[in-house]
Amino acid sequence: MKPLNHIVTEFKESIFSTMTKLAIDHGAINLSQGFPDFDGPKWVIDLAKNALDQGHLLGNVGKNQYAPSPGILPLREAISKNYQRFYNLDFDPSNEIVVTNGATEAIFCACMALINPGDEVIVFEPFYDSYLASLQMAGAKVVPITLLAPHFTFDINELASVINSKTKMLILNNPHNPTGKIFTPKEINTIAELAFKFDFYILSDEVYEFLTFEQSHIPTASYPGLKERTITISSTGKTFGLTGWKIGWACGPKEIIKAIHNVHQFTTFCVAHPLQVAMAEALEKMDDYLIDFKNQYRKKRDFLVSGLKEVGFNVLTPAGTYFAMAILKEGENDIEFCKKLILEKKVAVIPTSAFYIKSNEGSNMVRFCFAKNDETLKNAIENLKR
Ligand code: PMP
Ligand code: GLN
Repeated sequence: MKPLNHIVTEFKESIFSTMTKLAIDHGAINLSQGFPDFDGPKWVIDLAKNALDQGHLLGNVGKNQYAPSPGILPLREAISKNYQRFYNLDFDPSNEIVVTNGATEAIFCACMALINPGDEVIVFEPFYDSYLASLQMAGAKVVPITLLAPHFTFDINELASVINSKTKMLILNNPHNPTGKIFTPKEINTIAELAFKFDFYILSDEVYEFLTFEQSHIPTASYPGLKERTITISSTGKTFGLTGWKIGWACGPKEIIKAIHNVHQFTTFCVAHPLQVAMAEALEKMDDYLIDFKNQYRKKRDFLVSGLKEVGFNVLTPAGTYFAMAILKEGENDIEFCKKLILEKKVAVIPTSAFYIKSNEGSNMVRFCFAKNDETLKNAIENLKR
């Protein structure tokens, strides 16, 4: 038989699937994969039930039939309104927003839409695993820059030294998974200067935009001059604790969004229609919800961080996201450590070497997810104390 696509066949199972499976197999408390172990808000789920029930009321645009490929207009309008309200950013709902199956699809479509084989793309490591896979499928040359623990800063000279005329794009994830870092305006301005000088795009993955604990999120596109070269990606998975709904989007300049939509059109065509209807309504009503949402996650962060410190972990307090990194003791290895933790303490976490391709830094750290019930976090800390 002729060989299959060698890039795709070499992909390994995602570390998130691997660790969740191990947690289930060993009956361990799962603080590995990033998803809440509690349900999303009932009022949002009720909106979806309502949309499902009304599935056939609208004839050929019935809510249980295909949605328009770029996303239903009310959802694009709600997304646009929120960018305006929260960040004073204008995205035209008609042609500067495309709704995708989660941020993951938006990332894939953006990579396919922007990258020609051989183009170079800067990625900060540790990185969310789908960046590498999407870039490889698009034929990019991935150029990693390591964020250095414990503050996860990058070396400006190192960054400048790898950028050249072939640099097509830089991927920025802010707030950052897995480190919980929020990039400073100084860091983003440095990236901006390089982007202007070398004319590259910025894919800004902002799925944790509402999970910032001490400061407000600043979208990359709101920095002077960056809107025209930034693709802003987000998702309702984290904000509403409904990761299984997979409602995400990309916003940006019209020509770029058209190209991203061209890819989306021929990969999935559209996103689950009734869930879009529900999300369009939910996004309009999120102000009150967000206050409780942030407080709830801040409490979880503080509980986990102080619990881990008590147990003796060198844990770093995250400024955003629902993850916390812990630095292991000299000589410990992340994979061995995670295996031991599952077997001996019945707690599953993520070995962070999976998020690096250049540096060994990851083999000295593990990631804890605190998007979990208070009871789950309490039990995990109890287990770790044993
Ligand atoms: N980007 C980052 C940084 C993530 O952590 C995740 C997943 N949790 C995604 C993108 C994917 O988001 P979605 O589930 O909406 O596809
Ligand atoms: N983003 C989530 C995490 O970092 C997992 C996403 C996934 O499982 N694909 O854990």
